[in-house]
Amino acid sequence: STKQSVTVIGLGPMGQAMATAFLDRGYAVTLWNRTASRADALVARGAVLAPSVEKALAANEVVILSLTDYSAMYDVLKPAATALTGRVLVNLSSDTPEQARAAARWATQRGAVHLTGGVTVPPSGIGQPESSTFYSGPREAFEKHRTVLEVVTGRTDYRGEDPGLAALFYQIGMIMLWTPMVSFWQMIALAHANGLAAADILQHATDTANSLPGFFTFYAERIDAGNHLGDVDRLAMGMASIEHVLHTNADSGVDTSLPAAVADLFRRGMDAGHAADSFSSLVELMKKTAA
Ligand code: NDP
Repeated sequence: STKQSVTVIGLGPMGQAMATAFLDRGYAVTLWNRTASRADALVARGAVLAPSVEKALAANEVVILSLTDYSAMYDVLKPAATALTGRVLVNLSSDTPEQARAAARWATQRGAVHLTGGVTVPPSGIGQPESSTFYSGPREAFEKHRTVLEVVTGRTDYRGEDPGLAALFYQIGMIMLWTPMVSFWQMIALAHANGLAAADILQHATDTANSLPGFFTFYAERIDAGNHLGDVDRLAMGMASIEHVLHTNADSGVDTSLPAAVADLFRRGMDAGHAADSFSSLVELMKKTAA
């Protein structure tokens, strides 16, 4: 038969959505998951639950991994490592660039190919044409299996041979997810403490978020040029502003750890002599902290 086939290991919300997308496209799908019952609905749709990790690996050249992290991958694959020869591991689990590089070495030593993937959408975006995933690792394997990868997300964004790159781009993006989402929770906590519903601030939150790309574009060019001129904003203004935010939250009795962390960063920028510079000068401070 010419039917295409794939193995999916890991059936959390993401792995389930991926297996579903493959079934929707007519693929023969082999599954394995630590908790076998999570495969039930997929088996009812025609997927095959492998009785062991070895059998799941043996079933197909392309093996999609969708696990919590890379440590879970070792837990799953180490006992079956001899079955890895000739497999292409498409690792769509989140972890650090360093973990991705180590896993690529580990897989290569066992005769497998490791492609790192960073999926940028939640389960609802899996199988959608406009959704995108970062990939890095051997270009040859990426090109060869591209049609399979395009089932997971319609767009594939290959970043290079370094297995850490896809993880790096993914983690860079996640800063822009977790911090703003927690900012939204903060907005709601503050709203609730003042008798407002989340629905009452939704439009305001959305409008504010939509204004951010304009700031990104404006500051990115200046920052890359090393320009932190205080011509449109000054850190001293930012310091006063974030303290208003901090005190409003404190006065309302809600958690202040998020605005306090921002205020602390601003304060350190002030102490470093950036009061009259743009608050973009904080980037220099943050780079130094990392070094
Ligand atoms: P989950 O953490 O819910 O999925 C966990 C999967 O990993 C399950 O199959 C679980 O098995 C398995 N697992 C975890 N630890 C172990 C272990 N020690 N041994 C064996 N199996 C283990 O994650 P999601 O499905 O939500 O996401 C999968 C990956 O995709 C994660 O890395 C996540 O960061 C990333 N991601 C998630 C998004 C989302 O919106 N959910 C969006 C983009 C990326 P069991 O069923 O037995 O518990």
